Amino acid sequence: MASETVRIKKRALLSALESAKSVYPNEFVGLFREEDGILRELIIAPFSEYGAGFSSFSDFHLPLDPSITGTFHSHPSSSNHPSKGDLEFFSRKGRVHFIAGAPYGIEDVKAFNQKGEEIQFELVD
Ligand SMILES: [Zn+2]
Repeated sequence: MASETVRIKKRALLSALESAKSVYPNEFVGLFREEDGILRELIIAPFSEYGAGFSSFSDFHLPLDPSITGTFHSHPSSSNHPSKGDLEFFSRKGRVHFIAGAPYGIEDVKAFNQKGEEIQFELVD
């Protein structure tokens, strides 16, 4: 595991997990806005397409907003490891990337850096 830690508001992560549950078995994609070093707010991009399978995430484009530094997506399977397409996407966009595997509890979430290395995340109230 890489040494960096990302801080995220618990509420923002829970919102993302709720969204993942509501579109299951499709894949949910969301973004996190960062302020003062903490990912605080879940942004659901209006152009998101919740497709089955793992292809939609790698075709996803982040808005040109520098405060949006994090991504979140769900896998319909219990795997929370990045696919090859995910890794390619991570290397191009964002600073931190969350993946949740079904059934989308907090314990089903992993965070990764741009290189696809797992990093720690810390929940902030
Ligand atoms: Zn994925």
